[in-house]
Amino acid sequence: MTVITCPDCDGLTFQLLPCRCTTFGNRFLADEAATPTHPEAYRDCEQCRGAGSVAYPCHRCKRRGRRRAQLVLSVANLDTGVVASHSVMPGGLDPEPSPTGWVVKLENRVRELAASVGATVTDEALTLWLPPQWRPDAPAVHRYELEAQAIAGLDNMPWRLFLGRSAAAPPVDPADRLVRLCALADVLLLDLVIEVRRHGQGWKVRYEVPGSPVPMFRIGHPDLPEALAGTDVADALAGLAERGRGVAARLVQPDQPRPPVVPAVEVDQLERRILADCVDPVDGVELPGAQAIWRDGRWWHTSLRDGEPVEDLVEQPTGQVMRRVRVPLRRGFTPPDPSWLGAEIGWRPCPDCVPGSRLRSCDCRLGGRTADGGCPHCRGAGLRPSALACLSCDDTHRL
Ligand SMILES: [Zn+2]
Ligand SMILES: [Zn+2]
Ligand SMILES: [Zn+2]
Ligand SMILES: [Zn+2]
Repeated sequence: MTVITCPDCDGLTFQLLPCRCTTFGNRFLADEAATPTHPEAYRDCEQCRGAGSVAYPCHRCKRRGRRRAQLVLSVANLDTGVVASHSVMPGGLDPEPSPTGWVVKLENRVRELAASVGATVTDEALTLWLPPQWRPDAPAVHRYELEAQAIAGLDNMPWRLFLGRSAAAPPVDPADRLVRLCALADVLLLDLVIEVRRHGQGWKVRYEVPGSPVPMFRIGHPDLPEALAGTDVADALAGLAERGRGVAARLVQPDQPRPPVVPAVEVDQLERRILADCVDPVDGVELPGAQAIWRDGRWWHTSLRDGEPVEDLVEQPTGQVMRRVRVPLRRGFTPPDPSWLGAEIGWRPCPDCVPGSRLRSCDCRLGGRTADGGCPHCRGAGLRPSALACLSCDDTHRL
């Protein structure tokens, strides 16, 4: 009973779904903001030929039509190397009633496993929701079938490994974390940026190359102490290259001796100051956000304001083009260049891509050859649309 017919595609290995073109309607140029009120297919759609629905391969069963109803939970003690596992399969799940139906609290199994290897693991709710038809007095075959469906629903990660230590890790002190992140920013010659965005988007802590534009934002932490506790050095460095892609390369003079500076500002003081910068001092209007930037051994403060709207045209696989207008944010005040930053390194425009488009050098020009007139991809133009970043300049358009 551990292998079942895929409930998402009924074993067909594909699913008939509305085509992507129906979200834009029967238009070549579609506006992201103006979605049609009733779905309509694009007559010249390259995916559905105007039919409005398309057979997509079922990604849940990876086109096998069958799924495995088995989940393995493992807990490893990192200090002793002892591992214990439990296999969750239909039968013997011991479900409990809850206001929304019958559930199996798998976190209890994880806790039992952790106790058996003498490890503490951070509590993480892991619940198996049984289908509403499940009843404890139903025939066993029927119950097992429903349990198998529920377990197969978790097969995006069929093996869950929990790592624990013999003693729980001490909680991170946000003030210590801030001192450490600032000290490392000085050593790495980077900005440490602490940012808040309003509309409940929260706080982010990250490293940036000086001069990076304000990036797009995803949901952050609810307050600064939590953001600091939840951001280690690796988290703060993540995405540094992408954020700094538009910054021109500069010489650095790291030889100027500077004693390491310890920020003399408390975390809550810094948090209050950044929140205060979210309000325009002139007219009291709320601004989109604010930043504190640790650069050159001191804090710089700036509000974030709406910049000039940018229009993007994004080609869709349906053959349609979607117009999207973004409003990037800009800093109200740009801190002065750090003392160790030198002259800009000269560059020339990359010959292998066209800025603002997906056109990239065609493979027929690889190795410095001239474009092949009979090339099936570019027909001799030497450029072809590509979804990948430019191989020569990584989309910086500078060489
Ligand atoms: Zn279509
Ligand atoms: Zn399937
Ligand atoms: Zn070519
Ligand atoms: Zn390029």
